[in-house]
Amino acid sequence: MKRSRDRMVREQIQARGIASPRVVAAMRKTPRHMFVEEALHAQAYEDYPLPIGQGQTISQPYIVAMMTELLDISPGMKVLEIGTGTGYQAAVLAEMGAAVYSVERVPLLFQAAQKRLAKLGYDVKLKLDDGTLGWPEAGPFDRIVVTAGGPEVPEPLTRQLADPGLMVIPVGMARELQKLVLVTKQDGRVSQEDKGGVRFVDLVGRHGW
Ligand code: SAH
Repeated sequence: MKRSRDRMVREQIQARGIASPRVVAAMRKTPRHMFVEEALHAQAYEDYPLPIGQGQTISQPYIVAMMTELLDISPGMKVLEIGTGTGYQAAVLAEMGAAVYSVERVPLLFQAAQKRLAKLGYDVKLKLDDGTLGWPEAGPFDRIVVTAGGPEVPEPLTRQLADPGLMVIPVGMARELQKLVLVTKQDGRVSQEDKGGVRFVDLVGRHGW
């Protein structure tokens, strides 16, 4: 698996311009196959998303790397993820030295991720809730990453973002057509930058679909 993972990093991630040494190291280290069911182990390092149950998917490796690079993580930062899914993105963030908080709304996925992350030795704080409300008691967060797509940037997340702070989130008025948005909070001002088209599963909740 280590050889498949090294090849994935070379051919899918570095070849497409992800240069951050810390992102590359984290992608090389995190055992992606351990986050999918056994029947999918052989496909864990392929260039596409995989099903994770409950109608959800884990993003293709390049998308995880690209979003992680946009987040510009330094060790010690407090990071909130919405959409724990398998816990893979949370593990990548933990590998980068972040203090990770992650919220999942589907009980079965939450429980499986909790077990898996503990077994693999990742210290990630998890919560079962509607992540469009954020995690107010634990904020503010230096970084926020949303791994499901909704119609807008949930206001509670913008509020819980530290200043300075960055958030990466897929947003789209049509469910099939989202753009990845980089939200920057700096000196009390919030701005948005379009980082290209993406396709994520639905962000479902009070400030989602
Ligand atoms: N980051 C995950 C993949 C996420 S798939 C990984 O690395 O495996 C998107 C996830 O977002 C799904 O598990 C879905 O249940 C969850 N989700 C959708 N809406 C949500 C919400 N409002 N709050 C929390 N999780 C949500």
